[in-house]
Amino acid sequence: MATWEEYLGSQQANDGVQFTWNMWPHSRVDAQKLVVPLTCFFTPMKERPPTEVSQPPLEYDPVLCQKASCKAILNPLCAVDFRAKIWMCPFCNNRNQFPAHYSAIAEDNRPPELYPQFTTIEYTLKKATTMAPIFVFVVDTCMTAEELKSLKECLQTALSLLPAGALVGLVTFGRMVQLHELNTQGISRSYVFKVEIEKIRVEND
Ligand SMILES: [Zn+2]
Repeated sequence: MATWEEYLGSQQANDGVQFTWNMWPHSRVDAQKLVVPLTCFFTPMKERPPTEVSQPPLEYDPVLCQKASCKAILNPLCAVDFRAKIWMCPFCNNRNQFPAHYSAIAEDNRPPELYPQFTTIEYTLKKATTMAPIFVFVVDTCMTAEELKSLKECLQTALSLLPAGALVGLVTFGRMVQLHELNTQGISRSYVFKVEIEKIRVEND
């Protein structure tokens, strides 16, 4: 039986997802009490361990919860009534009809997005996106000058590999959080936000 840490490690290796907390706050009040906000780090297009079943590329749009204020995506954690062709949204409890082209689904004929091992699925959307891709680099500057130099080189390499027309954002954080305004000459100015790191440290002690 795997330990909790091993379980979390395997989930991170499979999904490329890491949260600041592994429990979801039960209420808005609980969420406000969190010393560090609930945050998720996600690695898109993560390469998975060779021992895992590789996930097929899905060349269609995801099925969304029909409640206008929800729009959660059909996933293996949704309860499905295969006979009635209905799925329950785990976020808002809405009962959703499957779209007409899912009429052939059954317990033993599931679409890939309902396979229990595919907790992360990547879709290639059919609807053409009109916006240029956006990349935001969030950089922790609490490191030695040598590490910072090599990080800078890595960032420049990453920038050179971005598609033409991509929009780029840069946020750095150390004692302060800085949002940088970029232009073709480099950084023209930055907005500095004071963060309550001291407060967080005190509360953690
Ligand atoms: Zn929903």
